[in-house]
Amino acid sequence: MYTVAPPAVYAHENVMNNPLHRARVERVVAALAEPREIITYTDEQVPDLVLKDGITDRRVAMGTLDEVHDPILLFDTFRFDGDEAVEARRKYLEEHGARTGFTETALCGTGAFHWANYNQKGDPDRNDKVCRPCWRIHQQKGCIHRCMYCGLGGLLVSMVNVEEYCQYLGQIIERHPWQQTYLLDDDADPPCLEPELGCLGPLIEFFGTLDDRYLIIHTKTWNTEWMTDLKHNGNTIIVWSISGATQSRQIEPKTGTTEERIEAARIAQEAGYQIRYKFKPIIPVRNWREDAVEAVRMIFERTTPDVISLCCFMWNDVDRMKQILPTDLLDPEYLRAAEESTEEVASTRTKPFPPRVRSEIYDFYFQEIRKYSADIPVSLSTETFDMWREFRNKLGASASNYVCGCGPQSVPGAKKLACNAFQVAERNDAGIPGVVDNYY
Ligand code: SF4
Repeated sequence: MYTVAPPAVYAHENVMNNPLHRARVERVVAALAEPREIITYTDEQVPDLVLKDGITDRRVAMGTLDEVHDPILLFDTFRFDGDEAVEARRKYLEEHGARTGFTETALCGTGAFHWANYNQKGDPDRNDKVCRPCWRIHQQKGCIHRCMYCGLGGLLVSMVNVEEYCQYLGQIIERHPWQQTYLLDDDADPPCLEPELGCLGPLIEFFGTLDDRYLIIHTKTWNTEWMTDLKHNGNTIIVWSISGATQSRQIEPKTGTTEERIEAARIAQEAGYQIRYKFKPIIPVRNWREDAVEAVRMIFERTTPDVISLCCFMWNDVDRMKQILPTDLLDPEYLRAAEESTEEVASTRTKPFPPRVRSEIYDFYFQEIRKYSADIPVSLSTETFDMWREFRNKLGASASNYVCGCGPQSVPGAKKLACNAFQVAERNDAGIPGVVDNYY
């Protein structure tokens, strides 16, 4: 696992009372950079952890902090004891002034499975991004990679009852035959504490027992050696969020470098895992073109992905971007374009860069990729429908049939979807515990 020096380590009493779960925590603690005592807590103590110990205080974009440390590690179990029990825990936190977006889920022992209602009724970003409705699954919340634009540092929560989790996940999978892939932890980077934690391996092997159902791990890691002997049966896809040399070192400091991520992908590929890449987020640093040329070259010289997705830095207005990113690193022309386009992008989540900048960037990456592969699917991730219309002919796919890194029907090797991903999704989870609608 990574070299980690957390300020503190907490484990719920349920974890410490179960020999299998306790052993997971103890293995991680034994591998820390410095010794740490495990602080055991109960449900009743969670308000104090939040209000007195401040365990959630440093969950802010890391680029806004003067100094970034490794996160506090907290180990808990998903409690599959039903909505009423979850509601009682939420109420307790609220009465004690400790109910936050974060405590809504992880600290209440819920949020194992999240219904992502993308482009359905109730989605606040409906019609502004092309993602498809699906189930997302979770085991961790938080990360040690320190990306400046990310707010998932400060606290890393790991749920350690993966065996029980898989029983309920099996029910979700059985009831949703239209969903073939399951993205794990879009709010964490699962391999960081492995193999000591010992939770990701059992999940990979659980998917290995299924027919035509795939786990998707999205990561910026260098850490894949440990997974080569697992019985994955070709049913785990690993998607590297990849970036050029400048971004990977100066903005994403504890991730694998560009080269290390590609080497980790090569190792996984050699062990039979399907690998993919997303250039996401693409931050237009001053030398972004040179960095892109080099990263694309390395990808194709060393690995064989089945799809590459592209996504510019987005979801922040220009003022926020200037708070969380070092502006002196950014391409001055594109920075100025963002500053001058605030009205143009006011109503879209794809801000701060205007469409002409994003389009220029996508085009550049696309041309580079085509120098190495005439037919690998290239898609635009979380972009607008307008951007997809612009690129439809060039990419040879549309917003409703493209394949991407983590779409619910993007199975290994697919070139286009056989179905309309927006129409086939139907939710059917009544009675299955551990489910949340809104995930924070
Ligand atoms: S790797 Fe992902 S989850 Fe981790 S800090 Fe970076 S953006 Fe956040």
